Amino acid sequence: MIKIENLYKIFNKGAENEKVALSDVSLTIEDGEMIAITGPSGAGKTTLLNIIGSLDFATSGSVLVDGIELSGASDAVLSDYRAKKIGIVTQYPFLVENVSSLENVTVPLLIGKVKKSERIVKAATALKNLGLDEVINKKVSLLSGGERQRVAIARAIVNDPSIIVADEPTGSLDKENAQKIMSIIRNINKLGKTVIIVTHNSEIAEACDRNIVISDGKII
Ligand code: ADP
Repeated sequence: MIKIENLYKIFNKGAENEKVALSDVSLTIEDGEMIAITGPSGAGKTTLLNIIGSLDFATSGSVLVDGIELSGASDAVLSDYRAKKIGIVTQYPFLVENVSSLENVTVPLLIGKVKKSERIVKAATALKNLGLDEVINKKVSLLSGGERQRVAIARAIVNDPSIIVADEPTGSLDKENAQKIMSIIRNINKLGKTVIIVTHNSEIAEACDRNIVISDGKII
């Protein structure tokens, strides 16, 4: 379970360009939920997602994920959290271009100190489960946009995290590929994973179990 209480994020605190990106946000997300976070541009959606993904820190407030308090956590706790608990999917897949799909997907397993033979089996299985059998050994620079995003999703789930955070995961794709990605994400959710998607797209929001709307740093 994710329990966020009285969360504030203030960029450039005390400076002339101070920006309150999140203001007194409280939110509970149950295990296995698939939720959308929507709202106008600049509302604070990505900031909230980044804090749950431990890519950024709260200014104050509590972010409790499966009993782990992220606010004020040590580097060791955060490293472990990032390696095991969270899978991150972004709008653009940020792959290592000159190597294969397989090598890209093994990257998170390097952090987890998994044996090489096991890394290969796990990465190949994740790719096969996303219908990428034929491109396992292909350089990712040769893949289509939809295939690249699927490689990025395979990389996000290869460590079997319990939570997937996705920021506009279909934002760079055409409608057909976007639908394919959403169906993959829903299947991942059906395996019991919690999924949190930031999106501008109302169809994607409607495909989720719950839609949390943020405006001007507050949940409305
Ligand atoms: P959204 O995802 O809803 O478009 P963001 O969470 O990206 O909104 O941003 C919320 C607000 O915080 C915006 O006004 C944005 O300009 C500001 N902001 C985001 N990141 C930073 C940063 N690193 N430094 C200063 N301001 C930021």
